[in-house]
Amino acid sequence: MTKIAFIGLGNMGGGMAANQAKAGHAVAAFDLSPSALERAASQGCTPVGSVAEAVKDAEVVITMLPAGPHVLSVYSEQIIGVAPASALLLDCSTIDVETARKVAGLAKAAGYAFADAPVSGGTAAADAGTLAFMVGSDEGDFARVETALEPMSRITIRAGEHGAGQAAKICNNMLLGISMLGTCEAIALAEKLGLDPERFFEIASKSSGQCWSVSSYYPWPGPVPTAPSNRGYQGGFATAMMLKDLKLAQDAAAKSGASTPMGAQAEALYALFDGMGHGGRDFSAMLQLLRGQAGE
Ligand code: NAD
Repeated sequence: MTKIAFIGLGNMGGGMAANQAKAGHAVAAFDLSPSALERAASQGCTPVGSVAEAVKDAEVVITMLPAGPHVLSVYSEQIIGVAPASALLLDCSTIDVETARKVAGLAKAAGYAFADAPVSGGTAAADAGTLAFMVGSDEGDFARVETALEPMSRITIRAGEHGAGQAAKICNNMLLGISMLGTCEAIALAEKLGLDPERFFEIASKSSGQCWSVSSYYPWPGPVPTAPSNRGYQGGFATAMMLKDLKLAQDAAAKSGASTPMGAQAEALYALFDGMGHGGRDFSAMLQLLRGQAGE
């Protein structure tokens, strides 16, 4: 049994903390939201009143917070110097590479082992304990990181040094955002040309157009029964979340001098849909925008 402090019990963190408790660990859980704390308590965690209380005798600290500023302030003001120096610190939030490296530097200077460990997989994978983790850490810390993440994971891959986990996450999601738009455009064109989108799935999923957006998440209802297209684009991966990740990618591209024109175009299109009030719908609903039926 490991003493775990879990900070941030939202859509993702709630299920992740519950899986740590289910695996037999003692989970001291904190969130600013009372309802998130109640849910954690009903799932075997021990709710506490502050970050300091959660981390004071923790062996592992896990954070799952909204964005970079939350992560920087919680680590610099409430975790570093408060948790025992022997504690392993794991940030699973999706944040910018620069902040991840800054937090890693602060943690390392204070003697902690730290890893950025963002995830792929949505709330269903968080609840099921089948997330994919991409880790930025010192090589010597990785075995410990992998063990700590195990109750929440399907696979854990070390991407490289600090910040590399976040770099992998934003590059992967930029690729996904672009491939989904390509899939949506192809379906919209197929429909205009009188080609049945379901028949197009049969062909594209076995041809060179094959990709995850086609074969596992087809935006037209029918061929992939688990895809959000079958339930009015509810649930799944929200357009606003994809937009957040594309903004991180564009920011990183501007700072590093990388050329990402397709990523920029994708960001503009998801921002348009988000601005039309569709930020809460699954990102594959972009098909409806391209078909001129954004509201459906
Ligand atoms: P969320 O908004 O549901 O949860 C964040 C939680 O953090 C909230 O409950 C909030 O009250 C809490 N919080 C904020 N500031 C805090 C503080 N100072 N101390 C304690 N708690 C605090 O968000 P989420 O969907 O769980 O996403 C969390 C992270 O995971 C984000 O970085 C997101 O980009 C990433 N992510 C989300 C998904 C997804 O499908 N939702 C998938 C992959 C990655």
